[in-house]
Amino acid sequence: MTLPIKNGWFGRKRHIRLYMDLSTTCDIRCVQCFREAIIPPPMKVTRAQLEILEREVFPYIERLSLSCTGEPLYLPIFPEALRAAKRAGVPYVRIQTNATHLDEAMSALLLDEGLSHLGVSLDAATKETFERIRVGADWEMVTGNIRRFVEMRNARRRVEPEVSLNFTLMTDNCHEALPLIDLARDLGVTSISYHHMIVERPEMKSHNLAYDPPRMNALLQSLREQAAARGVHVSVPKDLPDTITPWEGRLLEEPVYNGRCIAAEDSWMFLIPDGHCFPCLNLRDRFTLGNVFTTPFRDIWYGESNQAFRGEALRNQCARGCDHCKAVLTDDTGHELAYLAKRLTTRSATEIDRLKKPTSFPADLSLPTAAVNSL
Ligand code: SF4
Ligand code: SF4
Repeated sequence: MTLPIKNGWFGRKRHIRLYMDLSTTCDIRCVQCFREAIIPPPMKVTRAQLEILEREVFPYIERLSLSCTGEPLYLPIFPEALRAAKRAGVPYVRIQTNATHLDEAMSALLLDEGLSHLGVSLDAATKETFERIRVGADWEMVTGNIRRFVEMRNARRRVEPEVSLNFTLMTDNCHEALPLIDLARDLGVTSISYHHMIVERPEMKSHNLAYDPPRMNALLQSLREQAAARGVHVSVPKDLPDTITPWEGRLLEEPVYNGRCIAAEDSWMFLIPDGHCFPCLNLRDRFTLGNVFTTPFRDIWYGESNQAFRGEALRNQCARGCDHCKAVLTDDTGHELAYLAKRLTTRSATEIDRLKKPTSFPADLSLPTAAVNSL
């Protein structure tokens, strides 16, 4: 059965937002990253597969993220992927990067090829905190790269790509959330996105400010006020309730989240480098909608699995397979499940734990665990 899909007929209007990675790798190691809990199996998109994407997938995409969970700029295939997206007419192409490889040549390429948005994850406003959290990245190099990129863009009298900074709010860096606003202005950046931290391992709970609502809410209010005063656009999570409903630790068998599903509402598709598609990254453990390297994308979009998921999520405002929405934490901040990686809370996701786990959370960042809720 074909269910109605938002925004009209597939072929007449681009409306799909595709989130993908060209590889499962990253060249640095951040303490809050999911890679501190699991190591994804190595995969990368080949040139032959990129041709399939350009021909079969990109022509249907309205907004494309060429990186979501890995670093794109050090991949040899990245320039060709960006060109392929533009040749296919994708109106909006963005990347998320750690900016370590945003050198002058790469900056020129991004400007020449018409990137729409450059998101840089920074998480700090000083060298000391930055290099402690983003292990392997160099503060002077990264901030210098951002500054030069903005100058090169401005020299061309362009407003695109828009540049924004990302900041994951943690106990370890929250004292630098406010100073980041002035740093952004100094770098020529006018947009910052602040996020809650997702707890990837139980011991990371002590680093999540969500367990301290008064402190978090005071910070959020200061961020709003200072950003308004400085003319910097910020995206800040909603205030937290006085207490967070704790998760009791029982692994959920068949999770169903009753709330808004932005993946269904905004026609998301998530593509991993081996070609498999999912409605959202959070459902990667559940089912694949199909593989774009073996099945036409149109057939996947109109396939029963995709239609059923979106139809149900839109009609019932629920997402089958989600314990909570990890994609848009700002919608419901009242339950601890919102902050815990799904691997920790559902039985279906424990499969992912078969992947190799790295060593423990860096000792120099560990804090007293008195405030940590036990799992
Ligand atoms: S730059 Fe992003 S993908 Fe790489 S380790 Fe840091 S958080 Fe993870
Ligand atoms: S995490 Fe679940 S509820 Fe949230 S957007 Fe993704 S699929 Fe929908």
